[in-house]
Order: sequence, then structure tokens, then C-alpha cells
Amino acid sequence: MRILISGGGVAGLSAGIDLVAGGHDVTLVERSNHLRVNGSPIDIRGESIGVTAKMGVLDPIRARRIGMSERIEFVDASDRVVAVLQPVEVNDTADDVEIPREDLVTILRAALPTTAPLIFGESISALHDDGAGVDVEFASGARDRFDLVVGADGMHSATRRLTFGPEHRFLRHLGFYTAIAALPARARRDGRNSMFNLPGRMAGITGYQDKALSVFLFRSPWIDYDYRDLEAQKKLLTDAFAGQRDWRIDELLEAALADPELYFDSVSQIEMDTWHRGRVVLVGDAAYCASPLSGRGTSLALTGAWFLAEALREHPDDVERACEQYERLQRPHVLRAQATAAPGGDLLAPPTLEAIAARNERLRTASR
Ligand SMILES: Cc1cc2nc3c(=O)[nH]c(=O)nc-3n(C[C@H](O)[C@H](O)[C@H](O)COP(=O)(O)OP(=O)(O)OC[C@H]3O[C@@H](n4cnc5c(N)ncnc54)[C@H](O)[C@@H]3O)c2cc1C
Repeated sequence: MRILISGGGVAGLSAGIDLVAGGHDVTLVERSNHLRVNGSPIDIRGESIGVTAKMGVLDPIRARRIGMSERIEFVDASDRVVAVLQPVEVNDTADDVEIPREDLVTILRAALPTTAPLIFGESISALHDDGAGVDVEFASGARDRFDLVVGADGMHSATRRLTFGPEHRFLRHLGFYTAIAALPARARRDGRNSMFNLPGRMAGITGYQDKALSVFLFRSPWIDYDYRDLEAQKKLLTDAFAGQRDWRIDELLEAALADPELYFDSVSQIEMDTWHRGRVVLVGDAAYCASPLSGRGTSLALTGAWFLAEALREHPDDVERACEQYERLQRPHVLRAQATAAPGGDLLAPPTLEAIAARNERLRTASR
């Protein structure tokens, strides 16, 4: 089959590798003009470890694994530790791997066969599925026809919008926004992971290897803005901490404003009854984003891409049946991942001063 994949993140690259291995003729388009490798380290858990082995990328992944799940210190405005969050054993199996997102994306990119072009700065602008194939118009003005279109274009998927309807029908905002930006390594003093709370807000410093990151989480109702507008994102972040100068907030905001690769998004989940329609199918965050609070988005992207490719291998002449099989195998993983996301926000960004004090007290009692 001729297959178009929209999105060059973990889901898109994985689908590319798996579908080429299944004998398909694959093209990827990525809206950004480069591989987006930033973000904090991510986890590869449970069944997705086996999937990376079958994809032939487990060895390089293991070689780049890190042990980041260190303790997090909650600090007051004077940088005194007021409570400690011990590393919780959240792994599914002892084989689970934590790896910098940049390393995973780079490994997957290297494993994508050269027969599958990855076109940067390109995206789908229109789709027409006539039952026998899908006519695609691209933002560049190019047109082509494919047997299958795979939407792997993330939480704000354009493929989903064009095929299933507007985002608000499927997106459930969990009440938080998050941001991650690069910091100079020296900002992470003594290798500590520190977080400072204001009511409903958290600003922190975390890191791995010789890297440091500023992280933010704040409570907010849904904000209607152009999610592709980096300047708007920077303004929303600074507005959320407006007038607050305590601890190292100034320094962290300054770093976020200076980072051209700032990651900023709502903490949301995508909930859909079905992930395919005709010859268009969704994988990864586009179909079933579980939010960064789940720690399972990458694992879902890996298993989803694998189940889809496997189903197409088993039902080469029946896209509908293949997509049904993909959904049946993937759905239990999605339900589990989405169910784990909710409590993290309350722990990291309690809503009031009283709730912050109660959280600290609870953690102190637990560590005695
Ligand atoms: C820059 C970045 C940083 C991230 N950092 C973190 C993090 O720190 N912690 C965390 O838990 N999760 C993070 N995520 C999300 C995490 O990568 C995903 O939850 C998970 O890996 C599933 O990946 P995905 O490929 O489905 O989605 P994504 O990783 O979001 O990848 C989607 C890809 O599609 C591209 N794209 C978007 N729209 C279009 C379009 N219209 N046409 C073509 N391409 C398009 C995007 O540029 C991106 O490369 C980050 C995502 C990105 C893009």
C-alpha cells in the first residue's frame, strides 16, 4: 500500500518503521522544519519494551537509558526543603526504560529506512477519501493519492480535525497547562530537582545527565488561542506567574522566554470512540493522548504503531478489519494510561496555600 503518515514524532516515526517493515511504500510529512527533539525524558513501559525489541531499536534505547526518577524536593521561597517526594516505583516491569526524548526521537529517525522520505515543513491541508483511496492536498500546494493516511500529528491533530471534526469534541482539558524549557546546566545546583509552589502553580528545575530544564505547571480553565503561536504561549506562561518574583521564578521564566523550542501545552486527554474512518486512521496522541501526567504517552505511541502495522500485515486487503483489530488490541492500554493521569496535578500544583501545606505535611509524615 502507499501510506502517508502525518507527523514525525514518536508515533509517526514508529509507524514509519513498522509499516516499511510490513512492505508498504511510506511517506512522512512533518509540519516543523526540523525534528522536534526537545522535552523532558520519557518512559518506555510494559509491552512497549517488547515492541521496541521487535522494531530492532531496543539495544540503542537501552544504551541511552538514564536513571532520572530521583527524589523531588519541594522548597520554600528561601530554597529550604519543606517536603520530599521519594521516587515512586511506577514501572510495569524491571525492564522499563527512561530515556531523554531527544535520544528516542533520534534513534527512531535513524531506524526509519531511507526508502521512506520524511518531508519537513509540510502538512496536510485537505483530505478526500473516496473509498478506494485518499486524495491529499498539502500546504505546499502539492497533491497526491494514497491507499491509507495515518494521522500521527499529536494532540492537536490536523488529520483528526479534517476527518472526524473539531478538536473540542474529543479533547478533555484536565485543568492545567505545562511548559518545559532548556536551562543552563549550572542552574541545577548540586544536581537537585527542586519545585516551588504558589497556589495553583508550580515552577521547578529538573535535570538529567548534564542537562537542566525549567518546568512549569499551572491551573487554568481552557484558553482559546492559536496553539502554534510561540509568542502567545510565552505570554500565557508569564501571565500565569505575573507579579511573582519569589524563589527563582524570574530566572526560570527568563530561560523559557529565551528558548525557541519551548514546549507549552494544555494538559489534556483525547477521547474517541473510534480511531479510524474509511482509509484514515490515527495513532499516538492524535487518537488517545493520555497527557504528560500519565507518563505513558510514548509507550502508547509505540504499541499503537506496532498493532496497526501488525493488523495491516494480517489483513492486507481489508483496511476496515485491520483498523478494528488495531483498536481492539490498543484500547486496553489507552484506558489504563488515561486512568493514571488525574492525581498528578493535585500533587504537583495544589490549588491553595492550605492544600500546599497539607501536601507537604502528608509527604513529611510518609517519609518518617
Ligand atoms: C516538542 C515536544 C516536546 C514534548 N515534551 C514532552 C515532555 O516533556 N513530556 C511528555 O510527557 N510529553 C512530551 N511531549 C509529548 C510526547 O512526545 C507524546 O505524548 C508521545 O511521545 C506521543 O507522541 P506522538 O508522536 O503521538 O505526538 P507528538 O510527540 O506530539 O508528535 C507529533 C508530531 O507531529 C507534528 N505535527 C503536528 N501537527 C502536524 C501537522 N498538521 N502536520 C504534520 N506534522 C504535524 C509535530 O510537530 C510533532 O513532531 C512532547 C511533544 C513534543 C512535540
